[in-house]
Amino acid sequence: MAPQIKYTKLFIDNEWVDSVSGKTFDTYTPHTGEVIASVAEGDKADVDLAVKAARRAFHRNSEWRLLDASQRGEILRKFADLVQRDMKYISALESYNNGMTMSMCPVIIDNGLNYIKYYASLADKIQGSTIPADGEVFSYTLKQPVGVCGLILPWNAPVLMYINKVCTALAAGCTMVVKPAEQTPLTALYLTALLAEAGVPKGVVNVINGYGETAGVALTHHPQVAKISFTGSLEVGKLIQQAAGANNLKRVTLELGGKSPLVIMDDADLAKAVPTAAMGVFWNQGQMCIAASRLYVHSKIYDKFIEEAIKFAKAIKTGDPSDPTTQHGPQIDESMMTKVLNYIETGKKEGAKLVTGGKRVGTKGFYIEPAIFTDVTDDMTIAKEEIFGPVQSILKFDTLEEVIERANDNNYGLASGIFTSNINNALQFSKHIESGVVWVNTYLVLGGQCPFGGFKESGLGRESGINCVDAYLETKTVTIAQPKKF
Ligand code: NAD
Repeated sequence: MAPQIKYTKLFIDNEWVDSVSGKTFDTYTPHTGEVIASVAEGDKADVDLAVKAARRAFHRNSEWRLLDASQRGEILRKFADLVQRDMKYISALESYNNGMTMSMCPVIIDNGLNYIKYYASLADKIQGSTIPADGEVFSYTLKQPVGVCGLILPWNAPVLMYINKVCTALAAGCTMVVKPAEQTPLTALYLTALLAEAGVPKGVVNVINGYGETAGVALTHHPQVAKISFTGSLEVGKLIQQAAGANNLKRVTLELGGKSPLVIMDDADLAKAVPTAAMGVFWNQGQMCIAASRLYVHSKIYDKFIEEAIKFAKAIKTGDPSDPTTQHGPQIDESMMTKVLNYIETGKKEGAKLVTGGKRVGTKGFYIEPAIFTDVTDDMTIAKEEIFGPVQSILKFDTLEEVIERANDNNYGLASGIFTSNINNALQFSKHIESGVVWVNTYLVLGGQCPFGGFKESGLGRESGINCVDAYLETKTVTIAQPKKF
């Protein structure tokens, strides 16, 4: 049964409100492509109201600013309890609006709970230092929240993205305006209701649903927004950095795309490597910035690996994401489905061999069979560009030196991996690969404790990990004259 939809408006100053224009837009389920709700559509006027509310909530005498840091942590812990309480509903809503399978949603949201608890525990560990400055002075630093943040979310993992950005900003003591992706506003709205229930004071978290070109642009150009944290495409990431430079020099954190190489050495444990490589690119229908979308397999095991990989891909169960036995759901929308199918056509035209899958499934919803291309070469489009779909591209290599060189020859640098039983291979690869995340004999393992972010055009800054709050803080140095050194 479809989950009931409880919230569809904008959230400003802890109130559900219509947009100033009165406009709404439809949101869909990718399972059938049918409309599931009409959502209030915010634009510049609504962003202005939300930023005003966030500014008031950031005033030095506001309820939020006067809370102890540990009380911010308490609110986040309460939020974690509420997410746990409503886990089933949130999972069903995420699956309905995003197409993520119900075999996967609770796993992802359970992981999200660990992130919330980790950020809760950081709130009262934010501290400056005392400094042995020269001369007759005493110097120390204060770590202070940067101000109003604009948090712009993608559609591929809406709950986890919301948790990651909102809870870090809250731990740091910021106030914020959240803009969910236009494809997937529903779980962001529900989680915001839970934050209010957990005791977040009014104006601290505001949500403006809307499109990137209107609400997103208004947020990134707003002179009173101090920081933008964005996850999405490289193209939009560049626009956001330009917008920050063109007005008030907002602080910017960018989590963008990837074309992540996964290397299978000839000494790898294939029983582990085959399924891990497959799920590394097929999980969430390949809609992951960290997807293992370039799979380099050693020439000595190439044929054997492909045989096993095809068997694995063919056994993946595709279908209705609300069925808990489904492993592979739909792409997010028609335009992404078409984009992925076009990449598959390009792969064939450029001479790669499609050995399984790659066709649209049915005529309703946006399903694509998990696809495997072999005989892929570095110059092919499917080996260079981010596809964001269930396409495993397999390339052959002979030596570790060679594969490191080839793997690094890409503008992205988000994630990478290696399967090997030789520790020296693992160490050498980990040192020389140009990526923010490296997995050895595993893939897709993420947690709140570990910094996450990219080299090169995969982004700017890091989320999660012990220093994640720094991206939401300013450091202030205070120097006090002393009559005499003592
Ligand atoms: P996108 O970058 O267009 O959208 C992401 C978010 O940015 C959405 O909330 C959108 O409304 C907003 N946005 C769009 N234009 C904006 C602008 N000019 N100013 C401010 N905000 C703006 O991504 P998409 O269209 O949803 O997906 C397209 C591609 O993005 C995918 O093919 C994939 O490569 C990439 N992507 C990456 C991730 C990731 O996790 N790194 C997530 C989703 C999409």
